Amino acid sequence: MSLSEVAHLSQLQLGKFEVSFDEIKKQREYVSFAKTVLESRFGGETPLAFVHTFGCQGNVSDSERMKGWLSQMGYGFTEVIEQADLVLYNTCAVREHAHDRVYGNVGALKPIKEKKPGMIIALCGCMMQQEHVWQKIRKSYPYVNLVFGTHALHRLPELMYKVLCGGKRVFEVENCDGYIAEGIPVRRDGSFKGWLPIMYGCNNFCSYCVVPYVRGRERSRSSLAVLAEAKELIASGCKDITLLGQNVNSYNRDGGDLNFAQLLEAINNIEGDFRIRFMTSHPKDCTFELLDTMARCEKVSKHLHLPFQSGNNRVLKEMNRGYTREKYLSLVEYAKKVMPDISLTSDIIVGFPGETYEEFRDTVSLIEEVEFTSLFTFIYSPREGTKAASMPDPVSRKEKGEWFRELTLAQEKIAAERCKKMLGQTYRVLCEDYADGRLSGRTDGSVMIDFDGDESRVGEFVNVKVTSCRNWTLSGEII
Ligand code: SAH
Ligand code: SF4
Repeated sequence: MSLSEVAHLSQLQLGKFEVSFDEIKKQREYVSFAKTVLESRFGGETPLAFVHTFGCQGNVSDSERMKGWLSQMGYGFTEVIEQADLVLYNTCAVREHAHDRVYGNVGALKPIKEKKPGMIIALCGCMMQQEHVWQKIRKSYPYVNLVFGTHALHRLPELMYKVLCGGKRVFEVENCDGYIAEGIPVRRDGSFKGWLPIMYGCNNFCSYCVVPYVRGRERSRSSLAVLAEAKELIASGCKDITLLGQNVNSYNRDGGDLNFAQLLEAINNIEGDFRIRFMTSHPKDCTFELLDTMARCEKVSKHLHLPFQSGNNRVLKEMNRGYTREKYLSLVEYAKKVMPDISLTSDIIVGFPGETYEEFRDTVSLIEEVEFTSLFTFIYSPREGTKAASMPDPVSRKEKGEWFRELTLAQEKIAAERCKKMLGQTYRVLCEDYADGRLSGRTDGSVMIDFDGDESRVGEFVNVKVTSCRNWTLSGEII
């Protein structure tokens, strides 16, 4: 979005979360100050940034915005840490594994920085919004120059300028409800696939989840801003847009012109040949209106990522999910009725505190009943400060691992059966990757297929007939 559009927008509506036009203008001034400092420091050579993102698509999208700022400051980008003058890690706090990897990665930077003392090390994202984390970084990782939380992303130019000029460590970890900032430049990772955030934060407080604590309150971007960015993406050749939010079904719940189904339809009505996806949908707020809209809108993928987490009602209640197994299955039934070719995917947590084996089996029976295309399955990971972290958790990690494998095997069988049914059928596939004479891409339902083809077709839609399937991987040929 251009600065004048932001100015227009902010005159129209400055909600309680919106960052003012003057603040963004100020950040743009910091961009030029930082650029001047970098130019004199690097004598006209391009300084290089290594930006690495942990976690979800929301983080990937945030990183694209931070890369937008850095690029305007004059940074180029590298994939080689040793070449970098700035290392920026955008961190994830959702599970312990991602959390531990960040500490490992930051530790590994120490000897690299010793050889290159001018290197700036910056950490941001969800983990840095947690006090116990930034305190640990402050104390035990003195070579980290800049730490900022999720709420300070729009102030990156100012923070970078302070680091560049002050030489002191900068910590910006305000704990607040969060902001919506329009007018931040975006440097997208891909040209034909694009992330489009429509809302930020979360109010649901599922008992296991850290997101509401580190991402602030739920807040929706104005439909004007979302539609403007969608048009920008489509005009630049994007073929696959994914709308992002922790719970897209509650878009504009507190007011605003369009609800999520209406927003989806408005994007569908933009001219052009492209696909629309969205994630994540929360079953408690998923409506038949949304499913009808998906069915009606030809550019909306017939793919619904609808995380159910557990198939057992007692566990769902303890998780504070706000729906039952029966409600979930009724949504699935309706989705299959209005979209017979719907592809369903989900997130699942195995081994929630107090879950018994019998309760876990309800999760297995649910996946067998629904027949998902694919699943993201996680073993429960206690997160500091959440309600579930203080619940008794008697089942061992080893046993949870066995349940996890049992679930994985059950899903592999389902996926293999689903793939067999796809044999001989033709699907519209967006060519996403090329290697050794083979293209690969996803169907509308998000199933990967590979096939012979020329690299020049990457970014194009092609029709592919499925000619073979081995377990749950498909191969085909362009027709
Ligand atoms: N807002 C989305 C999920 C965001 S987090 C939704 O409600 O569907 C992505 C996934 O990580 C969750 O769906 C859940 O399956 C998993 N997850 C979150 N916290 C977790 C924890 N403490 N342990 C294990 N998995 C977790
Ligand atoms: Fe976490 Fe629940 Fe919010 Fe999803 S809806 S981000 S799982 S609290």
